[in-house]
Amino acid sequence: MTSDEFHKTELVKFQAAKPAQKGLMTEEVVSQVIEMIDQGKLRPGDRLPPERELAKQLGVSRPLLRAGLRAMSSMGLLKSRQGAGTFVVKGPPMLDSEPLRLLAALHRFSFDHMFETRSILEVGAAGLAAEHATGEQLATLADEIAEMYASLNDPQQYLVHDICFHRAVAAASNNPTLFTLVEMVSAVMYERRRETIERAHDFSESLELHQQIYRAIRGRQPEEARVAMREHILRAQRAFAIEESELQSTKHIANAEMQIG
Ligand SMILES: [Zn+2]
Repeated sequence: MTSDEFHKTELVKFQAAKPAQKGLMTEEVVSQVIEMIDQGKLRPGDRLPPERELAKQLGVSRPLLRAGLRAMSSMGLLKSRQGAGTFVVKGPPMLDSEPLRLLAALHRFSFDHMFETRSILEVGAAGLAAEHATGEQLATLADEIAEMYASLNDPQQYLVHDICFHRAVAAASNNPTLFTLVEMVSAVMYERRRETIERAHDFSESLELHQQIYRAIRGRQPEEARVAMREHILRAQRAFAIEESELQSTKHIANAEMQIG
C-alpha cells in the first residue's frame, strides 16, 4: 500500500468515527473504560490491551481512543509508560491537583481557608494513623523525620520531606479517600510554599512538632497525635503568613525601586 492509500484508509476510519461528535465520543471512551473498571474487568496495575485492539473493542478510532485515554490519565486513573503501554494506576490513588489549583487561582482561595482544610483533614488523619499505622508505615514516618533533620539547613529539601511526612501520615490513616484528599490539597499548598520557604527562619521548632506527631502515632495515642498535628498546622499557618508578607514587601520594594530607577 502506498502512503497515499494508507492516508485515505486512515481518513475513512476517522470519518467513520463521526468527527463532528468528537467531544461526545471522547466521553464515550472514558465512560466505557470506567465501566470496565467498575465491572472489575480492569484492576489496579493492569495493562490496557494494545491500542489497536482496544479501539476495535470499543468501536472508536485510535485518535479518539488516545484522546479518551489522555483524559483518564489527567484524572489520575491511567498512566502511560514509554514502550510498555498504558496501565490502570496501581495506587496509592492520586487525584490530579491541577483543577483545584486553577479553582484556587480563579476564585482566590485564601491560604487561611486552605490551612483550615488541611487542619480538618490532617488532624483526623493523624488520629487514624495512631490507630491503624502498620510497622512499615511507621518506618516511613521515621525515615522522613531523619531526612528533615538532615536538611535543616536546606529549606527546599526540608519542605520536600515535610510534605512527604504529611503524605505518609495520611497514608498511615489507611483510609484511601482521606489520603487522596490530603494529597490534592497539599500539592496545591506545596506550589505556593516553595516560593516562600526560603524566608523561613528556623526549622527546629517545626521538626520538634513533627517528632511529637510521630511519637504519638508510634505510641498508639490518637488524641496526642491529633493535638500535635493541630498545633503544627496552626504554627505552619502563622509562619507562612509571615513568610508571605515578607515576600510581598520585598516585591513591593523591588517594584518601587524599578519605578524610581
Ligand atoms: Zn509539616
